[in-house]
Amino acid sequence: MGMIRLKNVSKYYYSKGIIASGISRVNLDLDAGEFVVITGESGSGKSTLLNVISGLDTYEEGEMYIEGKETSHYTASDFESYRQQYISCIFQSFNLVSSYTVYQNVALAMQIDGCDPSEIRLTVNDIIKKVGLYEFRNRKVSKLSGGQKQRVAIARALAKDTKILVADEPTGNLDSESAEGIVELLTDIASDKLVIVVTHNYEQFRDHATRIIKMHDGKIVEDTGAASGKIKDEAAPAYGHRSTRAEHRAKKESISYGTQLKLGVRNTFNLPAKFLLLLLVFIFVISSVSAQYVSVKKQKDTVAEVGWNNYFTNYDPKRIVVEKQDRSAFTKADYEALENAPHVEKLIREDIMYDSSVYIENKDFSFYGYVLNINNLDKTPDLGGLPKADDEVVLSGYDDGWTFGEKPGELIGKTFTVSTDGGAEQKVKVAGIVMLGTDGDEEEMVTENNMIYFSDPLIAEVRKSMYASNSTTTMLINGTEQTLYPGSGGLTVNENVPEGYILLPTSYDPMFKEGYAAGKEVELRAKALYYDQELSLMIMGTYGEKTFERKTGLENLAEHDGEIYINEMDFRRLYEKGSFQASVFVDDTKNTDGMKDMLERGGYHTLVLKDHINNFMNEELVSIIQLPMAVIVCLAVFFIAYFVIRLILKSRGVYFATLRMLGMGKEPARRIMRVELILDCMISYALFMLFIYLNRIGVVNSAKLMDHLTYLTVRDYIVLAVILLVMAVLISGRFMRSIFKSSAMGTYREEA
Ligand code: ADP
Ligand code: MG
Repeated sequence: MGMIRLKNVSKYYYSKGIIASGISRVNLDLDAGEFVVITGESGSGKSTLLNVISGLDTYEEGEMYIEGKETSHYTASDFESYRQQYISCIFQSFNLVSSYTVYQNVALAMQIDGCDPSEIRLTVNDIIKKVGLYEFRNRKVSKLSGGQKQRVAIARALAKDTKILVADEPTGNLDSESAEGIVELLTDIASDKLVIVVTHNYEQFRDHATRIIKMHDGKIVEDTGAASGKIKDEAAPAYGHRSTRAEHRAKKESISYGTQLKLGVRNTFNLPAKFLLLLLVFIFVISSVSAQYVSVKKQKDTVAEVGWNNYFTNYDPKRIVVEKQDRSAFTKADYEALENAPHVEKLIREDIMYDSSVYIENKDFSFYGYVLNINNLDKTPDLGGLPKADDEVVLSGYDDGWTFGEKPGELIGKTFTVSTDGGAEQKVKVAGIVMLGTDGDEEEMVTENNMIYFSDPLIAEVRKSMYASNSTTTMLINGTEQTLYPGSGGLTVNENVPEGYILLPTSYDPMFKEGYAAGKEVELRAKALYYDQELSLMIMGTYGEKTFERKTGLENLAEHDGEIYINEMDFRRLYEKGSFQASVFVDDTKNTDGMKDMLERGGYHTLVLKDHINNFMNEELVSIIQLPMAVIVCLAVFFIAYFVIRLILKSRGVYFATLRMLGMGKEPARRIMRVELILDCMISYALFMLFIYLNRIGVVNSAKLMDHLTYLTVRDYIVLAVILLVMAVLISGRFMRSIFKSSAMGTYREEA
């Protein structure tokens, strides 16, 4: 029984509606131990016949038997496993992994079959010696001559150790001397395998072939030596431990995870240019995605942070809200520089209060308005005069007969209480009143804004209580953190409590060992957009029903239920912060852009109301517009990255087609690719983090980047890493699908 038998086999090519005959009605018997040379002029069907025999191409008519088994019902995957078991291919174009060494190329064939490393080492070295390349075993294939490359290909075929070895024009690219060496090697191999060689150069093989088949026009016209096709008695395996190879295949074992990882790592670094390009692409992805992410967050933040309350009461198009890029408080020098900058009409130092209203009231009269610094008052009061003490204020408002009551003059010199959201109360005296609208100033009438002009110290006081009510205040008490809310249960100043101490209700006692809070420590923390203040205090004791009045000096426990008391100095430590936000008004709206540029260069973040206030007014709207935009941009980035990576990985296409021809399945191939891309993207990520770190410690200096970084939290960095990983996995999956979508040979032709 022959190894391969063809009975009346025909193969047609269909292309563009034309049918061409590849081979027609071919009859052929091939046996182990034969060295068959197929020859004939170009176009005679040699390659077609070889491809049919090796299962690379299908046939349309006739029958083919493999070791007696009929193959007409074979599916593509049947032929695939036939090739894996029986066929090793040698090509005119060598088809090696040129970035691997000789040893690595030969070992690959055995690794794919899942052989043990020690077995691989032994066998591969043996085979390399046999093909005469031992001294070159650690040289990269790209550095070898054509003849040497073909020897590597033969060595690899030997390592694959199949019963049939096919070679299509193996000497086609070689000079006659190298060709001779190859012919001899093949002859040697043919002693125990079926070797089929296609060549148009019959002379080279004449002395060695056991059988010569001549083709013409798709038919066999001559077949000499068939009868003398002798099978030599060759029992012992020539190389390595052949029996185990058969076992591996029988058990359908394949490449181990360790080897997959090893190959993935090797592939990452073995082509430096490709490695660097991939890094660039991933860094491009990281920076574009993070930039998008930051811009969404920034917009949201800007809207959220402006004036604590998401909207402005003053929409003046000339207004630019500024904060310092390092988010520190404004200094006197900052204010002066801003005030004296060109095109600045006025500067509102207390921007947050500018948009927040306060009441001043006593039992007869109450007035509601926005707080401004007395420095911003550009008129002389119509009634009374300018303040002479820190606790004196000037009121300003539209004089419609209601704003200041019936007898405005009587308000001068009276004492009022200022009340803010913060709840803290402050006594002030009215020094003067500015009446708007009395001189027929139409514009002033439209704004309808009541203003209260405060001195600096007064502003600091009010600001402190505003911060107290707008900060998130937490207390870390014996390992548990709780949030303190203004009002009942909140933090309150009490003069009976010494500095550095805190007084708690008895309800806190059980939280401590032995049931006593006294003498233990608590950690207070006040956090807001611009500051994060921690303060350690010692618990001076707890108060209950009986001790409340004695310990606090207050009356009526019911009204103060659950309150926590600290000293005024400590309260100031927590909340007495500078001003972090100011507003610059330009002299003319046409100067806002120039001003914005100047401010940003000068170290400020800016929010130009003219640009924003009409576009969106709240956070939700920002998400509605910005988020989909960011998603679209990110998707675009991914697609660009995918196509660029595909281009860069073009060489990988040939590589994986080669692996596939050596019998590797889709899954291991995908994992090898995945290892490579994940490594690439993680290295890019590490570089990105390094760059950020260098920026943080000031080695690299980019204000814009610093600005961006303030918006990224640890969670965002993790999300970014996950996005990259997912991307690497998806791309390797897609890439493998495209490699495995057509037949191994088809893919190879396409990729090469
Ligand atoms: P050889 O290898 O002897 O040069 P081939 O087996 O390549 O010959 O080709 C045999 C015949 O089949 C030729 O007439 C050729 O035109 C045709 N043929 C080969 N490959 C294709 C193909 N992919 N599409 C169409 N016709 C083909
Ligand atoms: Mg050919």
